[in-house]
Amino acid sequence: MNIDLPASLSHAYLITGGTGESRAALARRLAAAYLCEGNGPAPCGTCKHCRKAAAGIHPDVTVLSPLPDRREIGVDQARALRSDAYVRPNEGRRKVYIIDPADAMNPAAQNALLKVLEDGPAYAAFLLLAGEPGKLLDTVRSRCEPFPLPPEEAPVDPELAELAEELAELLLTGDEFAVAKGLTALELEKPRADQLAALLAEAENRIAKRLAACPARGAKALRALKACRENAVFNPGPGHTLGFIAASLFREA
Ligand SMILES: [Zn+2]
Repeated sequence: MNIDLPASLSHAYLITGGTGESRAALARRLAAAYLCEGNGPAPCGTCKHCRKAAAGIHPDVTVLSPLPDRREIGVDQARALRSDAYVRPNEGRRKVYIIDPADAMNPAAQNALLKVLEDGPAYAAFLLLAGEPGKLLDTVRSRCEPFPLPPEEAPVDPELAELAEELAELLLTGDEFAVAKGLTALELEKPRADQLAALLAEAENRIAKRLAACPARGAKALRALKACRENAVFNPGPGHTLGFIAASLFREA
């Protein structure tokens, strides 16, 4: 995804939206842009700062994440970052701190960073990455410029995608016998409730995309899948769910 970077960079961004990967990729590009000493728009991608930043080996780029086996970023880590920010850069013009995920900082850690976020040294830049920005203190959020990424669909597991495609095809075009046979075969696989739910949800997506090609049958299939989704809270067995789909599909309207 090619997101335009602002022409003049703020000293702190709160990167939200997208996926964990797209947020991290944007942070790496921004880090290179802060440090780039090439000609033209930054990051040039070819100067030594850009290359080191892209490779994750620039001494002036620090990534702060939870320690191994920890879910939170603790106050000690935040204090260490804060002290480091007051030490001048090694090679570059700036020092860049990527906090990923920033929403893993506990409140004490967030509080420890308030001052440096507000008026740290001019060379320090902060990139806070958050899938759940609501977990951040208002005081942290208000000190960062928002940088929201457009939502991205999570990639679908290829095996699930293939099964879902087959199921969508069956529900849209199979006759009563083929559908009963196909759904019985699926039931014999003894899918777990969450696997079946994921499969049906993906089949629903695919049928929705093909609705224009087969409106009547497609609408019936979508109604049946939606009812299954809504009934999933009652934990019906896979046999019930699949039987319901077959019955709904061939019931007279
Ligand atoms: Zn460069």
